[in-house]
Amino acid sequence: MPDLVITNVTAVTMDGQRRILRNAWISVTGNRIEAIGEGEPQAGPARVIDGRGGVALPGFISTHQHLIDSLVRGGLQQDRNLIDWLINVYYGAISAYRPEDCATAVTLNVAEAIRSGVTTVCDGWGVNNGDDPGRVSECTEATLDVYRRTGIRVMFARMLQDVFPDYWQPLAGALLRKIPGLRLRPETLVEDTDGGLSRIESLMSKYHKSENDRIHVCPSPVLPQTASPQALAGCLELAERFDTMLTIHLCESLTDARMFTESGWGMTCTDYLNCLGFLSGRLVAAHCVHLTDRDLRYFKVNDVKVAHCPSSNLNLASGIARVPQMVLAGITVGLGTDDTSTNCNVSILTEMRDAALLQRGVSFDAGVLSAEKALEMATIDGARALGLADEIGSLEAGKKADIILFDTDKPHWYPRHHLPAVLAYQAQASDIHTVIIDGRPVMEDRELAFLKRDEEPAFYERAQRTSEDVVERAGMQSLLARGWQSESRV
Ligand code: FE
Repeated sequence: MPDLVITNVTAVTMDGQRRILRNAWISVTGNRIEAIGEGEPQAGPARVIDGRGGVALPGFISTHQHLIDSLVRGGLQQDRNLIDWLINVYYGAISAYRPEDCATAVTLNVAEAIRSGVTTVCDGWGVNNGDDPGRVSECTEATLDVYRRTGIRVMFARMLQDVFPDYWQPLAGALLRKIPGLRLRPETLVEDTDGGLSRIESLMSKYHKSENDRIHVCPSPVLPQTASPQALAGCLELAERFDTMLTIHLCESLTDARMFTESGWGMTCTDYLNCLGFLSGRLVAAHCVHLTDRDLRYFKVNDVKVAHCPSSNLNLASGIARVPQMVLAGITVGLGTDDTSTNCNVSILTEMRDAALLQRGVSFDAGVLSAEKALEMATIDGARALGLADEIGSLEAGKKADIILFDTDKPHWYPRHHLPAVLAYQAQASDIHTVIIDGRPVMEDRELAFLKRDEEPAFYERAQRTSEDVVERAGMQSLLARGWQSESRV
C-alpha cells in the first residue's frame, strides 16, 4: 500500500517516451514513485494530495548554484563584470561570513529554490576556504545542517583553489582599489593543496550519500587557473574513488578565458584540462561560454557535462554559451541558477525561458532551441548532468519521488495547447503549490515545512539584518550608497 497518492493531475513525465498523462495519478512509497497511471488510482493510500486539475512535473534540477551568497544581492552586485563582481562583491562578502550567516543565507536560498520548484541543487560551496580551518569547518557544518533540516536534495560541491596565477595579480590589485574599505584578505582565498584535498575527503567520507542518499558530496576545483595540476588530479581521484561527479567553472568570461590562453602556451582552458587527463564523464563544467569548436569536440568525446547559467551570464555581461551547438553535438546540458547575487533569483523557470529565448535573438533562428529541449535541460538532462538520471529527473516507477505540482487555474495558463511551451514560456514560480522531495512534502499550499507561514516575516527580517551586518563587517558600506545612476558609475 502506498504512503501517498497524488491524484487529479496532468503528468508531464519526462520519461523515455516523453509521455504526458491526462487525468493521472502518482503513488509514492517511502522515498520512491511506486507507480504512475491514468484513470482511477490504486486504492488504499495513507494520504491523498489532490492535484486540483493542475500539472505534475519532476522537480527542477539546478546543476550549478551557490547557496551562501544570497545575502549579497538586493542591488549590491549591479553593473559589474565577472572578475570585478567576484573580487569586490562575492569574495569580499563571504570572507566576512560566520557560521550563523551561512545558515541564514542557505535557508533563504533553499526557501526560494523550493518555492520555485527546484528539488535538487549542485551547491558550489566556499567561504574563502584558505581561512582559519576552524571557521571554514563551522561554516561547512552550518550549511550541511540546513540541507538536513530543509529536505532539499543536494550535491555539495566543496570548492578548492590552491594557486592564484601571477598574471591575475595586477588585475586583481586594480579592481580591489575600486572599494577602498574592503577588508578582503586575498591570501585566504587560497588553500594548501594537501590540506584542501584531505578536508574534502573527510567531508565525502562523512556525508556522501547521507540522509538516505539525499545529500551527496563532491570535489569542486574552482577554475583551471586557480587549481594546480596536483589539486585537479586529487579531485578527480576522489570523484572516482567515491563514484561521484566533480565540478569546475570553465571559460565563463572572455577575460578569464583570454587571459589563460594569452598567459603562455596559447592553449584554451579545455586544451589544458585535456592534456592533464581531467576531462571525463564525471566532470560538470559550469558556464562554458567561450568554447572553441575543438573544445566542443573534447567535451563530446569525453562526455563532459555542461551546467548552463544563462541569467548569470547575461547579468555579468559574460556572453552567451553555444548551447545549440552543444546540443547538436550530443553534449549533455543542464541548467543552473548560479549565484543569487548575479542571477537575482533562484528559479529554473526563468533559466528555461532565458535559455530558449536568448539563443533565438543571437542566431536569428526561432527554432534553434525548442521549449521541449529547455524542459529537458531543466529536468532529465539536469539529472544526467549530475550523474543521477537513474534516480531523478522524470516521473517513473522506481525513481525517487521528487515531484512538483502547478496550480493552473490562472489567466496566464490559458489557452493551453502544448504543455512544454506553456511550461517554458507561461508558467510562473508562484504557480507551484506543492513540492515533494524524496517522498516527503516540503511545501504544501505554498507553506514550507521548515519555515511556517507565521515564521516567515521574522525570518526575512533576520536575513535583512544579517546582510547589513555582513556588508558592514566586509567593509562594503560604499556599495549601499549607490544613489540613482541613470548612467552607471560603477
Ligand atoms: Fe559559479
